Amino acid sequence: MASDRNTIRGIEGARLPKAARQGSRRLRATGGRGDAERPCDEEQAPLIVSTLESLEAAYRNKPGKLHTARILRAIYASPGITRKSLVSTCKMRPGTVTEIVARLVGDNLVHEVRPEIPLERGRPEIALHIDKRRWLVVVIFCVSTEMQAVLVNSFEEVISSASAEIPALSDNADFEQCIVRLVTTLVAGNPYPKESRILGVSLSVPGIVDSVHKTWVFAARWPKMRNLVLADVQERLGIEVSIRRQLDVRLNYEMVRKPALKSGNTLLFYWGYGIGGAFASHGEIIGSQTGVFCQIGHIAINPDSVKPCLCGRLGCLESEAAYWALQPDIARLYSDIVDNNEYQAAGFLRDHAILDQDFFKKAQKSVAYALSYLQAILVPDRVLLSGMFLENPTVQDSLVKRMRQLSPPFVADMAKIEFIEVSNAWNAGAIAFFHFRRALEDYIGESSSERPSRGDEGDARTLPTASAAAPSTQRAR
Ligand SMILES: [Zn+2]
Repeated sequence: MASDRNTIRGIEGARLPKAARQGSRRLRATGGRGDAERPCDEEQAPLIVSTLESLEAAYRNKPGKLHTARILRAIYASPGITRKSLVSTCKMRPGTVTEIVARLVGDNLVHEVRPEIPLERGRPEIALHIDKRRWLVVVIFCVSTEMQAVLVNSFEEVISSASAEIPALSDNADFEQCIVRLVTTLVAGNPYPKESRILGVSLSVPGIVDSVHKTWVFAARWPKMRNLVLADVQERLGIEVSIRRQLDVRLNYEMVRKPALKSGNTLLFYWGYGIGGAFASHGEIIGSQTGVFCQIGHIAINPDSVKPCLCGRLGCLESEAAYWALQPDIARLYSDIVDNNEYQAAGFLRDHAILDQDFFKKAQKSVAYALSYLQAILVPDRVLLSGMFLENPTVQDSLVKRMRQLSPPFVADMAKIEFIEVSNAWNAGAIAFFHFRRALEDYIGESSSERPSRGDEGDARTLPTASAAAPSTQRAR
């Protein structure tokens, strides 16, 4: 039975809106419609801005959609922008800007803020802001054996959060109950029930995931959960539910943030509570029909190993090197680490000489072998390394050295190696991204007529081509 530990609290490292930083009571009090309560310190929304850029590229022959996307991007990128500035920024006729902005305001996607001190001459310039309350998504992800849920807006800000520890022997019914409880807690606590639409519930989980059939096939850390079909959960909640593999979501997020990663092959390798990988070729995440891919954590690197793995087999890489397997040794060494939460343990291990320990040297050797196999088979141009043990600079240096030694000729020095930190900061926005992208596509599609508007500059020929488009494989799979 999944234990209940629902708390309305911010998750460490997440970006919080001003109201949320002041606690949940304050948060609940911000549901009003008055302009005075709207935050004035709005920040940019990098994922949405990058998504709109890629949509603009896709709409290059559809001026109606293109103009709506361009104006939305300008308002997301420069909160408080005026109509006059939109005309010059977007290179569009004043009439087109006025028409599109009127529609965005009418649909409550954008709100107007009148300046408090009127300008000396002429009509005061009205500032335009995205209404952050309009679109919200519930995202659920796993940290060690905890399920965390957050309500997030399109600025990647966490509105509220809840979490539950999932015991190792939980079954499908326990998971269904837990997901429903987490979502209903967040929906009930939504401070903007009237203004907002909850676009969906997005799960990002470890193990094997069949996204097309919304099925969580398997996760080694919860072996009694098998083929969890989320259709029932979706029906109970009355909200669309989607599920993706955690490492695919992370790799996709990195590619949206750093478009250079979309050229060539990119491998993401994760060494934390579990061990796994994700792989993209030319910006497309590679998967399989069955949802199994890069299951490197569950093959035996050392054929003599007979250590039992959580998955039920013997001698898997995880049983040699994952945090769950090393926990007893680490706890013996550092009694300070009592936390099962891999993100919190990462901070502790960063500053400790864990590489001096024999048990850890052995674990690292297995990980280096696994990485050299992946490099030889997939031949990535870039390897992104992440996970709680890879925050420690000594561990980083020695792992890279070992990988280079073990990889075959012509492969060893080819890949550029980069470390990306483990934190909760990326989770909410990265997972919700898919819902926001679709909401933007749907809105722009429904609201834009395709009459060519004469006289507007900056037609599609000057825009980046489809190579800048964010990969859509995640949604399709
Ligand atoms: Zn295993």
